Amino acid sequence: MSDESSLQLPPFNGSTVRVSILYAGLLVIPTALMLQPQIPGHDTVDAPMYSFLVENDKVGKKLMYDLGMRKDWREKLAPSIRKLFQHTDASVDIPSDVVDILNSASVPLSSINSIVWSHRHADHTGDPSLFPPTTSLIVGPGFKSNSKSYPGYPDNPDVHTVQDAFEGRDLIELDFDASPLKVCGLRAIDWFEDGSFYIIEALGHTSDHIMALARTSEDRFLLLAGDAAHHVGEFRPTPLLPLPESIRPSPFEAPRSVIACPGSIFEQIHPCSHSHDSGSFRTTPFYEPRPAINSDPATARVTLEALKVFDASPNVLVILAHDPSLRDILEFYPEGDLTGWERQDGQPNSKEAGTWRFLRDFGTKDIQELVKAQQKTE
Ligand SMILES: [Zn+2]
Repeated sequence: MSDESSLQLPPFNGSTVRVSILYAGLLVIPTALMLQPQIPGHDTVDAPMYSFLVENDKVGKKLMYDLGMRKDWREKLAPSIRKLFQHTDASVDIPSDVVDILNSASVPLSSINSIVWSHRHADHTGDPSLFPPTTSLIVGPGFKSNSKSYPGYPDNPDVHTVQDAFEGRDLIELDFDASPLKVCGLRAIDWFEDGSFYIIEALGHTSDHIMALARTSEDRFLLLAGDAAHHVGEFRPTPLLPLPESIRPSPFEAPRSVIACPGSIFEQIHPCSHSHDSGSFRTTPFYEPRPAINSDPATARVTLEALKVFDASPNVLVILAHDPSLRDILEFYPEGDLTGWERQDGQPNSKEAGTWRFLRDFGTKDIQELVKAQQKTE
């Protein structure tokens, strides 16, 4: 277990990275496939696919963390995996993939030294075959010896990965045994060896799942959390980050609005309200992961507990691979990068503006009317 009272973030050695977020398409997934219990009105999850460009100017290196999904998935994925995404209730939309976005920004693909996969699933692995052979592919522990990840289709019939990802390039499997570092109780690797970017072992969703902790300034970090959770309601609120009495900005207003909304409105839709423990709606997450979504639910829980600790720190902005609540909060590449996420300029910063925005997902007519009524009386 991690120490809940204080998150020890790694010391600063003078180096940071520039991180940009790329919008690599959208999945729409029935909520019941991933989350429990059901909350009325939240029947589907908008799951954007985020990819990240990470640049370390001091060492002159660039990497991509996750690639979203490949555009030709209908032709190239294993039939059994394709079926998962062609499930009648799930939809996939990829107007531009990561390579299109990098091309539009005139970033030569040969400048990308590495691609890091958060895990082996096809909505993260993209199409590395579009990158030159000099771009290495970094994967989590046990990847190469696990028939669920390697080799890829068609050499191996039921895997998410496609063999063309590996051909002609270095495939590097992370070895956490070789690193003495731990962050928030999880094993970590100092990737550029300058304290700017840590790859963190975060197993459970899959046996190769990793996260990344990117230092954007001396003491501020982004946690690129992959699929450690599929909705921020799995780790908010908590005793470390309770639901406020007054939520400002209101999740139903513009992202930097000064209008507030009372937190008590959400008590009626919180699963706690149906139990004897209704008072804990301010400190209990709205959702739990469905056990079937994670390959090892017990280990996934350890990862989720660490995520709660990271999330409670004002110095860390947690970004899930599919978090729709940040879509209108963050500046997307190539229009901007995430460097200034912690800046305030008299307004809420990206974390403050985004933390409770997911409550919009629960904005049924009843809730919206309650919000309106309360705002009138304020
Ligand atoms: Zn995913």
